[in-house]
Amino acid sequence: SREWHLIARPTGEPAATDFALVVAQVPDPEPGQVLVRNDWMSVDPYMRGRMDDTESYIPPFRLGEPMDGGAVGTVIASRAESVPEGTVVRHFAGWREYAVLPSADAHRVDTELAPPQTYLGVLGSTGLTAYVGLMEIARMKPGDVVFVSGAAGAVGSVAGQIARLLGAERVVGSTGGPEKAARLVESYGFDAAIDYRRGGLPAQLAEAAPQGIDVYFDNVGGDHLQAAIGAMNRYGRIALCGAISQYNAPEPTPGPDNLALAIGKRLTLRGMIIGDHLDMGPLYVRQAAGWLRNGSLRADETVVDGIGNAVDAFQSLMRGGNMGKMLVHLTGR
Ligand code: NDP
Repeated sequence: SREWHLIARPTGEPAATDFALVVAQVPDPEPGQVLVRNDWMSVDPYMRGRMDDTESYIPPFRLGEPMDGGAVGTVIASRAESVPEGTVVRHFAGWREYAVLPSADAHRVDTELAPPQTYLGVLGSTGLTAYVGLMEIARMKPGDVVFVSGAAGAVGSVAGQIARLLGAERVVGSTGGPEKAARLVESYGFDAAIDYRRGGLPAQLAEAAPQGIDVYFDNVGGDHLQAAIGAMNRYGRIALCGAISQYNAPEPTPGPDNLALAIGKRLTLRGMIIGDHLDMGPLYVRQAAGWLRNGSLRADETVVDGIGNAVDAFQSLMRGGNMGKMLVHLTGR
């Protein structure tokens, strides 16, 4: 079985030489364990933080040891009655072809409801992040004007669509490049799109949301957060979900220079970590599966084939090479 190890801590953008694909022996499962063949793995921006040796809400990857992350696979040998051979499960031992796990860490997914990889994307913690960020953290209400950054990505594309489905008055998204901006309006039903690479974010935002914004779903941080604070209406709410513009920065980056506006505008800025909200998963999955079935929610995937290309997939994600959820398909073609 092949597995990825982090072998050097990157400075700035991770380089291919920071990783090694290593051949490892897979042990036989012991009582209570299952052997899973990984079919899909999730590629996520937070993994960049785990490549640094810093304290966070999740421990760093250890040098010279297998990396991990969300994956979906098929149980091919089982010593646990509750998870028989053939079960399709979601678990956290990604970045490798085969994994031996305690059966309690292998969560069965309903492949009648949706294809297996959907549980890493729109029906997984990605989709749940969009829903929780919007409804629980930013307390979006019908009639709000909503701005989403990273809007062509996995979380952002779902957040924008859910905002519309749950009654937002106007939904504006930002992304990098004219093609992706066009897709926001054409595929995901955003009312207006901003291409941040054109620059002039505050002016573009003022044009896209002339009445100001009530909710900002922040995936990007930095200049996006600053522009949003400038455009917020009174009592506006900001969900601090991610700050991808800073993840590769080798030095601390300047914060928004207009935070004092939050006082007069009575803004709420609230951070979130999706692991705190997994209890909302079942409710969300029921609702989102309904939207997927009736065609009102669209979830794109960008699929990279083969474990050997997993690092490329991560580098591409950080440069905006994806529409929707970035996945590695380990089996199949
Ligand atoms: P995405 O699918 O959105 O992929 C990342 C995207 O970020 C790229 O496609 C790229 O799109 C954009 N990007 C890269 N660099 C920059 C930059 N300098 N400025 C603006 N945009 C940039 O990933 P996810 O949907 O998985 O994650 C989105 C965000 O949500 C991340 O910040 C992530 O950390 C956060 N997150 C937070 C969670 C939590 O619990 N708080 C849980 C899950 C995700 P483009 O082409 O538009 O630049």
